[in-house]
Amino acid sequence: MADIIDGRAVARKLDEETAAEVRAMVEAGLPRPGLAVVLVGNDPASEVYVGRKIKGCESTGILSVEHRLPEETTQDSLLTLIARLNADPSVHGILVQVPLPKHIDTGVVLRAIAPSKDVDGFHPVNVGRLSTGTGGIVPCTPLGVTKLLDTVFDDLTGLDVVVIGKSNIVGKPIAMLLLEREATVTVTHIETKDLPGLCCKADIIIAAAGAPRLVKGDWVKEGAVIIDVGITRIKGEDGKTKLVGDVAFEEVQHARAVTPVPGGVGPMTISCLLANTVQAAKEQLSGKSSDGFQIDWDDLPDRSMIFSQSED
Ligand code: NAD
Repeated sequence: MADIIDGRAVARKLDEETAAEVRAMVEAGLPRPGLAVVLVGNDPASEVYVGRKIKGCESTGILSVEHRLPEETTQDSLLTLIARLNADPSVHGILVQVPLPKHIDTGVVLRAIAPSKDVDGFHPVNVGRLSTGTGGIVPCTPLGVTKLLDTVFDDLTGLDVVVIGKSNIVGKPIAMLLLEREATVTVTHIETKDLPGLCCKADIIIAAAGAPRLVKGDWVKEGAVIIDVGITRIKGEDGKTKLVGDVAFEEVQHARAVTPVPGGVGPMTISCLLANTVQAAKEQLSGKSSDGFQIDWDDLPDRSMIFSQSED
């Protein structure tokens, strides 16, 4: 039987460490780390995610400020809010929940967040820093994946890893993180020829395709480790909605270890967001921010500065 990697337990431990760091900051007379969460519209899944993030802040002692904006919010007014949050010294992390309504250009909005406050790690500055191994804020789900692998391996050097999926928020950053750890990484996608053949040789398979039960038992070599990032909502035989991953879980029991869905990667994502917020706060307070962002209430950017970052 494969070992089950318990993402909930690993996430709990990370939250305890984050809470301890927050306490230490407050005891040292530093401000409490602050996370601004921006939600535009009423997407039900987004409401759930935002609710969990706010709850995570409460339990770790991070100050959270929610900005709920109506569906018809214009891109300009969202950018104005982000500029205000960029300049607010009590806000150390800014999270804009995606998807945004269709009339808003998500790329423009995410690029308007100061890289030092970009706790999702999506800003091109943070992407570039990750790609060049020069620090920055690492996207939460990929960071969570590496923390789960660390519960199984002391060292990833020379291991063969197949990443299924090449998205900017999951597949590619995972590949970058594992290359930094000296693993040999093959990034695959929907057009990849012979995905089963590549998986068969892998020491580690990271499935992030959003394709339910894609990875079959005979794709997995004896003793491999499998991280299942995929989450798809399907209707079960009982008519109830359930979450399924990208791995045919019961077929891969000859693996060394596997993450379940739910209870694997999912819980790590929010815990890594909270940890990123504390990291961002510490860097800003020590003046080591990645973008050298000047926090000064008297120095609010004017509109031309805000919109110089827009592509339109
Ligand atoms: P995406 O749709 O942006 O990218 C999917 C990638 O998988 C693409 O590169 C595509 O080419 C590849 N792919 C799709 N079907 C494939 C197949 N049959 N064979 C090989 N490759 C295939 O998705 P994403 O945002 O990267 O998310 C991927 C999955 O991870 C989704 O199920 C998503 O819900 C889940 N996810 C989970 C968390 C979490 O916290 N656990 C966070 C983010 C995403």
